[in-house]
Amino acid sequence: MSAAAPDFDALAQPGIRSLRAYDPGHDLVALRAAHDGTLIELGSNESPCGIAPGVMDAIAAALPEIHRYPDPRGGALKHALAKAHGVALEQIILGNGSHELLMLLGQVFAGPDAGVVVSQFGFAVYALAARAANAPLRLAAALPREHAMARGHDLDAIADAVDADTRLVYLANPNNPTGTWYSGDAFAAFLAKLPAQVLVVVDEAYREYVTAPDHVSATAWLARDPRVIVTGTFSKAHALAGLRVGYALAAPGLIAVLERARESFNVNALGLAAAEASLAASTHLQQVRVRNGEQRQWLADALRARGLFVYPSQTNFLLVEFGPHTTQIEAKLLERGIVLRPMAGYGLGECLRISLGTGEENARLLAALDEVMACGGGR
Ligand SMILES: *Cc1c(COP(=O)(O)O)cnc(C)c1O
Repeated sequence: MSAAAPDFDALAQPGIRSLRAYDPGHDLVALRAAHDGTLIELGSNESPCGIAPGVMDAIAAALPEIHRYPDPRGGALKHALAKAHGVALEQIILGNGSHELLMLLGQVFAGPDAGVVVSQFGFAVYALAARAANAPLRLAAALPREHAMARGHDLDAIADAVDADTRLVYLANPNNPTGTWYSGDAFAAFLAKLPAQVLVVVDEAYREYVTAPDHVSATAWLARDPRVIVTGTFSKAHALAGLRVGYALAAPGLIAVLERARESFNVNALGLAAAEASLAASTHLQQVRVRNGEQRQWLADALRARGLFVYPSQTNFLLVEFGPHTTQIEAKLLERGIVLRPMAGYGLGECLRISLGTGEENARLLAALDEVMACGGGR
């Protein structure tokens, strides 16, 4: 005999009660099957360049050992990261994607008496991390659309939203979904205003794609300011999204505290091997950056030439305004086998986020858009 199920929602912590499960959007598995290998997937900011030379061999070499637990210290990958970023091994923690570390930071440092500040249009995971930790969340208004860095982080507004109970600030530079960034000078001024007890997480998931000279990686502050935490990932430019490897860099003492709550074997053996090999392939990464920069410029110019508002981007995607017919345009592109990311969840319902594909994919997207918008779907 089974007992009546309790109200599980009521049993959950208040922060969890306020959440909804991740909406994966379109059923990509079904769409791939329906389009028989021709689907153009520009919805998830994945790399069209594929993995670096040497990565597949590194994965193959790790396969015979998958009956064993992975190295819980992530030693080889940490050595490679330490060398790449000029930090000590004690300044690195590895994650099952950087998403896990963004959540872990909330779990460890935020709570009912330790609030979180994020920017409007900031990456959605930050608010999730705050709520899951039952922490008060403050949203700082983004820069206006008319600003040169349209809807990007307003570091002054973020600093103003910090109060005596704030423990954690999440920034993304560049940001997803806007693509916008802020300068090294702006970050230095922001840090100067920030109280001593406030930790700053700078999510640099798109760092490898940046070409703007005024952008400065927050890793430059690690040696000078113990409040700074930088996260990075192998999911984007390194094209290893399916293996789930991310990392955070911070002061040794801070990393030591995070390590207490990290799941022991959070990064799998294939991911560790692949990420290490990918870091060694610097020529490939440089080509990825150059190719991405060319496609970004080409597609942004082409879309602007069609009268569309394209947000400034230093990432591998463009946020584009399509106006009141955005939903129809997205649906018509999907019928033609092109997947973009709708933005209503971010309060940007008149925008779509377009991940940069190969040159051919981007050209096909543009041709499809011309068709779709010519037949009355346009603005
Ligand atoms: C994609 C992305 C991540 C990376 O997520 P992983 O868990 O490392 O795959 C982190 N932050 C932002 C802003 C992103 O867009």
